[in-house]
Amino acid sequence: MLEYKISDIRDYFDKAAKFSSSDRGVTRLFCSEEHKALLPVLRNWMEGAGLQVRLDALGNLRGFKKSKNKEAKTLIIGSHQDSVIEGGKYDGILGVLLPLYVLKRMHEQEIELNYHIELIAFGDEEGVRFPKTLLGSKSLCGDVCSADLEVVDKDGVTLKSALEFLGANTNEITKCAYDKDDVLGFFEVHIEQGPVLESESLPVGVVTAITGIERHRLFIQGKANHAGTTPMDMRQDALVTASHIICFANDLFCNTENLVGVVGELNVYPNAVNVIPDRVDLTVEIRSPDKKIRQEAAEKIYQYANKLASEQNTAINFNHNYEMDGIKCDEKLQSILGEAIEKNNRPVFHLFSGAGHDGLAMDRLTGVAMLFLRCKEGLSHHHEEDIDYHDAIIAAEVIETFLLELEEA
Ligand SMILES: [Zn+2]
Repeated sequence: MLEYKISDIRDYFDKAAKFSSSDRGVTRLFCSEEHKALLPVLRNWMEGAGLQVRLDALGNLRGFKKSKNKEAKTLIIGSHQDSVIEGGKYDGILGVLLPLYVLKRMHEQEIELNYHIELIAFGDEEGVRFPKTLLGSKSLCGDVCSADLEVVDKDGVTLKSALEFLGANTNEITKCAYDKDDVLGFFEVHIEQGPVLESESLPVGVVTAITGIERHRLFIQGKANHAGTTPMDMRQDALVTASHIICFANDLFCNTENLVGVVGELNVYPNAVNVIPDRVDLTVEIRSPDKKIRQEAAEKIYQYANKLASEQNTAINFNHNYEMDGIKCDEKLQSILGEAIEKNNRPVFHLFSGAGHDGLAMDRLTGVAMLFLRCKEGLSHHHEEDIDYHDAIIAAEVIETFLLELEEA
């Protein structure tokens, strides 16, 4: 096993976190000044790991290491450089810097692999600045076209001009994409962004799937009336109906495996202290890696809501307004990752990701493997997001073993 030092790892993250437009946490939006300023630093680190570096048309910084094996395919490793507003210093960039450190050590020890490696810092994953998400990974699959570059941010700046500011050549979108036959797989290291590994007292876990998401809007129509004179059994209270639906949905989410969900938005009309609620709009967001589980949950909520409405003399309309399917991580890559953890004398623990990641897009191109790292108090998308650097050392060792095991597979 190569030697990994906490001080080295800390140094990478401390330096990268300085490229932030906020003092609190890290704010590094796609094609921002901070993104632009980080590029030469990343480039320098990548070159130090023996990688050939280029910035592609979508602002992805890509470091390629060619294998001597003429038949070789490419393992794509990476994660996103962008953050949310006042986010943490590990979300995304962890999956760039930790593998980078491992590749640097391997380069110093002249360890060669029989497949090519491309390490990528995706420009955009979060979709904070422009109304698009996963732009970096989608571009690798050929799923971004020149029309997509016409979207604008809140200041009216087009994505095309933002990319040009960054130094990207937007005429070369087609050069972002990979041919399926040339790719071995996609490997991403990411903080868990949840409390599961911490509650299991484990430093790392193997991701089995990345969640799918669907969103629904329910419109409940009651009848406004005087809150003092209308007898209780004669009311058509939209908010009472809504409250039962919220409890029903929450119980369903609590009692179904591989399912989470939330009623996150509620609008009450007229929203007055002495008027029976006339109308309520609410949202239901449902997440599961398994589409069938999600659909069944939505169906149960619809059925319950309809039954309830007829009992309570209210009316309900439904609008299923968003759906993004989840993906299952590649079985073979998962088992190699599991073996790598076992070889480092750690128990293998599997979990699914309730957050979206680049793998959602990369699955169209190739098999996906994800390694989760424990994060403190499950906190992410927050300026106090934190990890234990001992865990990062373990993850580095697992990455090294995974890369070597993959060679045998
Ligand atoms: Zn992320």
